[in-house]
Amino acid sequence: MLTNLHQQPADALLALIKLHNADPRADKIDLGVGVYRTGEGDTPVFGAIKAAERKLVEEQDSKAYLGPEGDMGFVEALMPYVFGKESPDMGGRIEGMQTPGGTGSLRIALAVAKRAGIRRVIVGVPSWPNHAQICADLGLDVVEFNHATQAGHTDMDALRGALANVVEGDAILLHGCCHNPTGIDYSHAEWDEIAQLLSQNKVLPILDLAYQGLGNGMEEDAYGLRRVLVAVPEALISYSCDKNFGLYRDRVGALYVMAAAGEDLPRMMSNAHSLARANWSQPPDHGAAAVRLILEDEGLTAQWLDELDQMRDRMRQVRATLAAAGKAGAVDLTAFGGQNGLFSIVPISKEQVLEMREKHGIYMAGSGRINVAGLTMGNIDKFVAAVAEVTA
Ligand code: PMP
Repeated sequence: MLTNLHQQPADALLALIKLHNADPRADKIDLGVGVYRTGEGDTPVFGAIKAAERKLVEEQDSKAYLGPEGDMGFVEALMPYVFGKESPDMGGRIEGMQTPGGTGSLRIALAVAKRAGIRRVIVGVPSWPNHAQICADLGLDVVEFNHATQAGHTDMDALRGALANVVEGDAILLHGCCHNPTGIDYSHAEWDEIAQLLSQNKVLPILDLAYQGLGNGMEEDAYGLRRVLVAVPEALISYSCDKNFGLYRDRVGALYVMAAAGEDLPRMMSNAHSLARANWSQPPDHGAAAVRLILEDEGLTAQWLDELDQMRDRMRQVRATLAAAGKAGAVDLTAFGGQNGLFSIVPISKEQVLEMREKHGIYMAGSGRINVAGLTMGNIDKFVAAVAEVTA
């Protein structure tokens, strides 16, 4: 029976890690995988997380099951950061649950949407490949529109066109901030318009916030999400703590449901809980418990926010350095300065990406996506010179 299975393509980024690891060149540069790196090229555990983990070891008195919703203290402690301190549950209209990372949250969000009758998901492309993969696995059709223009701006006409054509049973999946892979985010004015457009039709918004705090700050990065939520009756929100708390492999995320009326939430959440039960039963506890301990403690919260500021400042510095380099051969690097988060796309061909790797030991995704945190003050000149050479 099992011999009926077909070979699946290897994950391109994981394959890239292997190639990078096997490369003996001392000055190789890894711009592939999406994790933050310090100026020394490390991805350290946050000091605030280390302190919370010590506290957890001391204080945790049981590892008995919590239930499919996970650690509700974690879920609720996060809400003022996501939805704003003024009305963190929008007057009783938002409830959440813990999930294994943002991926687990998206999985449940899309499965709940499907149960509710959603058949198509509108996605700006390029997007994080797992969006389409989860939709395909759930049997949801993906309708694509162009996220960004050649000139490196958001393609608002494409978005307006996509929203003009929605039908009953459509959802739209929007990146809250730090768009992966382009780094090109909607401006405040554009979010204002998006919120207004969404308020006028029946499309279900699914908001994916996986990088809050890595773009322009915790509050600033929530602007679009909050703007949409005040304009629409209902929405699904996928959240990841894996980047902004550096917890990647501990898999920390949350799913929030916003209902038109708070009394509908128990029925909606019962669906999310039963789907979680059928998928993983309960989310892993450790990372979420550490986040909760941070958010319950003023000192640890300040330490975490400070560490997050340092990450963001470093990425801004790298982006400013790239922008200051101006032109690298045929590539204009100035746009990188205004983009947000870990990723940007270098507009070069697949052949040029290969040349970057083979000739210069610079590893980037086939799409030209780079993780800007892979660049340091020590290797950025080499990167700019290599881009100039392969595009000359
Ligand atoms: N959404 C987007 C846009 C992402 O880029 C990622 C991670 N790369 C996620 C969600 C999920 O993150 P995780 O499952 O690692 O928490």
